[in-house]
Amino acid sequence: MKKCITILGSTGSVGKQTLEVIQNEPESFEVIALSAWKNVDLLKTQIDQFKPKYVVVKDDKLAKELKNKLANKNNCNILYGDYGLSKISTIKEIDMVVVAIAGMNALKPVIEAINAKKEICLANKEIVVSAGEILMEEAKRNDIKIVPIDSEHSGILQCIQPQFYNNIEKIIITASGGPFYNLKEAALDTVSVEEALNHPNWQMGNKVTIDSATLMNKGLEVIEAYWLFNISLNKIEILVHPQSYIHALVQYEDGSMIAQLSNHDMRIPIHFALHYPKRVKSNLSRLNLAKIGQLTFKKLDSKRFPSVDLCYEAIRQGGTFPAALNAANEVAVNAFLNQGLKFKEIINIVSKVINKHNNKTNPSIQDIIYQDRETRRLTSQFCTENKN
Ligand code: MN
Repeated sequence: MKKCITILGSTGSVGKQTLEVIQNEPESFEVIALSAWKNVDLLKTQIDQFKPKYVVVKDDKLAKELKNKLANKNNCNILYGDYGLSKISTIKEIDMVVVAIAGMNALKPVIEAINAKKEICLANKEIVVSAGEILMEEAKRNDIKIVPIDSEHSGILQCIQPQFYNNIEKIIITASGGPFYNLKEAALDTVSVEEALNHPNWQMGNKVTIDSATLMNKGLEVIEAYWLFNISLNKIEILVHPQSYIHALVQYEDGSMIAQLSNHDMRIPIHFALHYPKRVKSNLSRLNLAKIGQLTFKKLDSKRFPSVDLCYEAIRQGGTFPAALNAANEVAVNAFLNQGLKFKEIINIVSKVINKHNNKTNPSIQDIIYQDRETRRLTSQFCTENKN
């Protein structure tokens, strides 16, 4: 039987690669709905190819624009805004929602999808970081598994043998170190946006690429692993592995370690997530270890990249702390990309904002959304002051 799918964010990096996987397996998957927000040209191409019943764009203006482009094809329902995202995440026809939009906009539709008992393939980090506890509770209550697309977490899922879950001693997430890991401290002051966007191993969206350069991405992945796998924080570690062929390792208390390896190709974790809990043959590239020759590892220098400790601290504090951290980081990264904020100031500003945060324990979704907004406002102020 085919899995019927909604993709939130079909024109982004993960969304496009999800459609590539689906395109090669028409016997396994059917696209029912796509959301694209602003890129109506690419969405139109995807509609022509995959013939979804529903699509969602940002607002009514873009909906009209798309309608005109589609001309006579009126068997595709065009929706817009948050209502549209909620609708396509919960419709009867679908089995699974692939969450490939970035940011907090994904929170509401994902919770609704979980409550509608849809399988979730999750590429969005922000909502797990900000609202991990609520998400996992909802998933548990509805008996839904949230399957990660993030490569490290896909790796962890593949290394955890459920019958030995209680024997796990440590979960290790690897980090390439990003483009600046070997740079001298002083040189970090002057790195440009172009240099920061030049990731050594992965082709990804701008936000996550900058997060890789500050190593905030790894810190956020620790928080993500903490919630997704329900493992205590002192059992989650980061290991620098510049080649990025090993994505994660799980160490068991008998001394054995299990690692997951694959090429730098997001379609591999996407394919795994779409088929989960089955493992299905793919034509995706195989790792040639003889050709690679060697894999190297280093201890993480967390003094030089304080973002990681900030993340451990945020999750230890709990409550709305991780949401504030995530929001502050998003704004600061955006200020670096678009407003001339210095690279080293990204984490300095996040740290300053976090130090001012009034934590609220056991937050509701409304509390989290409120803190997210407030923190964004405060961080924007800090970024502007920093420039003057
Ligand atoms: Mn990752």
